[in-house]
Amino acid sequence: MIDSDLPPSHATRRVRTMCPMNCHPTYCGMEVEIQDDRVLSIRGDDENPDSRGFLCIRGQASREIIDNPMRVLRPRLRDVRTDDAWRDASWDEALDRIAGAIRKVGPEAVAVWAGHGSIVNTVGRRLAPRFANLCGFQWWEPAIVCWGLGGFGFSLTGPVQVNTKEDMAAHSDLIVLWGANLASQPTTAPHLVAAKRRGAWLVAIDVRRSEAFEQAHETHLIRPGTDAALALALMHVIVGEELHDPVFVSSHTTGFPELTAHVKQYTPEWAETETGVPATAIRALARRYAATKQSMILVGGSSMHKSANGWQAGRAIACLPALTGALGRPGGGLGPRHAAQSSGMGTVNIEASERRPPSPSGRPYMISEMSSILDDLDDGRVKVLLLFGTNMVSSFADASRVARALDRMDLVVSHDLFMQDTARNHSDVVLPATSWLEETGYKTTNTHLYLMDQAISARGDARSAAWVMDALAPRLGVADFFPWKDTDAFLTALFDHPAMGHVTPAQLRAQGGYQPLAISPVAHPNLLFPTPSRKVEFLSERAVQLGMPSLPVYEPIAEDAPTQPDGAGRFPLLFRQGRTLTHFHGFYDHGRALPTLAKADPEPRLWINPADAAARRIGDGDAIRILNDRGTMGARAQVTDRVPPGVVWMRDGWAGINDLTSGARSLPAAAARAFPGGQAAYEARVEVSGGEVVGFALGARPRRDDRRHDGRQTARAASARSRRRPAAPAGTADGTGIPGED
Ligand code: SF4
Repeated sequence: MIDSDLPPSHATRRVRTMCPMNCHPTYCGMEVEIQDDRVLSIRGDDENPDSRGFLCIRGQASREIIDNPMRVLRPRLRDVRTDDAWRDASWDEALDRIAGAIRKVGPEAVAVWAGHGSIVNTVGRRLAPRFANLCGFQWWEPAIVCWGLGGFGFSLTGPVQVNTKEDMAAHSDLIVLWGANLASQPTTAPHLVAAKRRGAWLVAIDVRRSEAFEQAHETHLIRPGTDAALALALMHVIVGEELHDPVFVSSHTTGFPELTAHVKQYTPEWAETETGVPATAIRALARRYAATKQSMILVGGSSMHKSANGWQAGRAIACLPALTGALGRPGGGLGPRHAAQSSGMGTVNIEASERRPPSPSGRPYMISEMSSILDDLDDGRVKVLLLFGTNMVSSFADASRVARALDRMDLVVSHDLFMQDTARNHSDVVLPATSWLEETGYKTTNTHLYLMDQAISARGDARSAAWVMDALAPRLGVADFFPWKDTDAFLTALFDHPAMGHVTPAQLRAQGGYQPLAISPVAHPNLLFPTPSRKVEFLSERAVQLGMPSLPVYEPIAEDAPTQPDGAGRFPLLFRQGRTLTHFHGFYDHGRALPTLAKADPEPRLWINPADAAARRIGDGDAIRILNDRGTMGARAQVTDRVPPGVVWMRDGWAGINDLTSGARSLPAAAARAFPGGQAAYEARVEVSGGEVVGFALGARPRRDDRRHDGRQTARAASARSRRRPAAPAGTADGTGIPGED
């Protein structure tokens, strides 16, 4: 039994849980006041040792999820993909329809992809690959949309673990925020401040002047996609001036002679032309970094790693603490990074990958690499797609291509709290998901395990992702998807691991709902690394075997190149995206379903430098159109010198944003197969025009017919749409009460 009803209670209760938005490495604790099964208030949990009472605007807005009138509360089906075809259905009818479609196409043509929209308390995340393995479905890593590629770069060199934020506060004397910002990891901020008060020197490196720049002593605005060039130039100085740690290098690294010869070419002057960072500043930073043993680098998550060559940056940056001997010591090495683990973290593996049957056709299973998935989708390899909490046409790069593929599928299923682009425009079945307070689960930060007990009853017919998989499995002939008696028994099995102290949920409840993890605050304390040599590999034979250079390199991003035939002339601006505090990617219908977030961030704003804006006669606050050959998007201009000329930036997660992005392959196929978790390129070159924005509203994704920036096509598509769509009640697109998109 996975989900259960709660006995009614009229007493006012205070429940300690965790924020549902998975901003790893920040997870914040919250205290929820409940009476009569209703949420009265949500506030930060003062006793949470990670967040210490902090709860940002997103966490506070989460109270608007529970009884939100826009929530999906019943299974919905439609027989044709028109807006007026939706009808409510029973769970049995919905599950039978899904199972029937799967039986018709066979398991090999079925894919499962899960994300934070409905899988927020880790249970569904852990069970989804088990479900796919036992059923013989295709399975894609959730990380392919954010940090996976950077993780690959770090793993090639070796240092993958991170020191804790507490260790940084206590011991670091130099902290480099390399693409990391405080909107992405707010709970790191107090520890940065503590380190700064102690005298630590803070350096911020980013493609835009982020809020981290305001905290830093030293800032470097870097040209997008050139982080590897900067890291190589830093190595050039450290090695060339013999500032490295020869004892550490000889004991714990491979390939130093080759690296020494290799980085001679990467002078600071060369790097200045690539990165825009002055050569003098590069030399000064290299000398300061090498001279400070307790130096820690915090690398940004999505922003850098969504870049086509972000893995090269990760690979090169990971060499720096090995050169200076900063690894395996307090205050040194690498600091908190999205999804990176502290030393010793883990749970029991229940994924049952060893039981995945051979694919009936003999063809290898699809790999979790975005551009390969796009190719396979184009080939029609997936006919039934089960999406748990993911808005795929929003989050994949080159999203228009995804949209076309979804349109060709037999059945698309979305399990989510709210309707969203993919559910609205491409799904045949929408399943109502429970919120984080309506199910039991857990979260782990880099230091603690937190139980997240069910606190209120499920609204409507909502069910957790785990429940849905458990209900589908027997319909597909899988008898032991969930062999545990209940969720507590499942968590007991999962926590039977040294890091978790083999604790049970009952014991956690008795001690207030959390406990410290048995981990080392210092990464790689034994100076062993997960490489074939167990050393830091400047030179990697594994890389060569996977079709990549033996040493870290910088390869300019093809999309960014000013010499490409179509790019530079017509689309001169480099487009990048990242995080702000007022949204959480595209979740909750791009934040539009939660009034607090919708009000705080009412429409997409494109940061554009005053010089670029003036050249286009665009003023601050003007409605603009962002376009390239892949798509177009309406937005409002935010004229600011926080981005340099030639670069435009927008927070991620807006509808339509990834109609612009590249989707190009980032890794050789062999590498993608060896490290199944990489994304395609999210770069884009764009042009921005001012004046009237026609065809779609700001912040709305144009329907698939409208995505070219060709005015005649847009008009034709609008005309066709008006013919096939019935009138909807005022203020809604489909009569469901959900605001329309066009
Ligand atoms: S930073 Fe905000 S959204 Fe993220 S976990 Fe904390 S409260 Fe939630």
